Amino acid sequence: MSKTVRKYLIAGNWKMNLNSAEGAELAKDVHSLVGSQSDVSVCVCPTFTALESVAEVIKDSNIALGAQNMHYEASGAYTGEISAEMLRHLFCNFVILGHSERRQYFGETDASVNKKTLAALAANLKPIVCVGETLEERESGKMLEVIKTQTEGALVGVKAEDADSLVIAYEPVWAIGTGKTATPEMAEEVHAEIRCMLAGLLGTDAANKVRILYGGSMKPGNAPELLAQKNIDGGLIGGAALKATDFAGIVDAAIKLSK
Ligand code: PEP
Repeated sequence: MSKTVRKYLIAGNWKMNLNSAEGAELAKDVHSLVGSQSDVSVCVCPTFTALESVAEVIKDSNIALGAQNMHYEASGAYTGEISAEMLRHLFCNFVILGHSERRQYFGETDASVNKKTLAALAANLKPIVCVGETLEERESGKMLEVIKTQTEGALVGVKAEDADSLVIAYEPVWAIGTGKTATPEMAEEVHAEIRCMLAGLLGTDAANKVRILYGGSMKPGNAPELLAQKNIDGGLIGGAALKATDFAGIVDAAIKLSK
């Protein structure tokens, strides 16, 4: 199936950077550079405390808002947590789930990512489910086994009808924030495998609708080649998302490829 059925998505993960005023400033710059184009879906994911100020800046633009995590319950005695409903109330459309930093530092597991994925979909939030292998796993030949366990684990109970809302981000852990990028061929190999896994879980038609993003030191310089791959439908951008011109450069690469 042609890639053109899947609109590119470029999502910026701001991680634990920028307070609400600083976030609004960056959002203004992103808005002025790419806020009015509609060829590519663009999303920014600030910290929880900057969601409201950023939402205000981008409200009349084509930029969507995303969060970096959420809890799977709607409300209750979960000190320090935030629910999908609360994110929807602030006009979030996306939520990043199971980022490797959350798996590594905060005990996120495939089971918790699964509960969150189901809760996000039920609340009309589009989950960006992150999967990816460590360098050790890649070098010991366990890469695809790890990706399969993470993908299948995150998607238990997800249905074919959810495919339009579902986003997977393949983020090799060794490429995140390190300046090391998977070559386009390395990334495409895994993306194609993930699409096969999705076909097994949801059926081929649904699998062809799911956007699979690449994440790991994507920049304006390497974006065109990565995004040109058949099964790479966008990027989850960390470091480069904190500089409006770099982020816009990646969006521009996707715009060119979508024409
Ligand atoms: C990320 O954390 O999702 C990421 C891809 O980071 P970076 O672009 O900085 O490697």
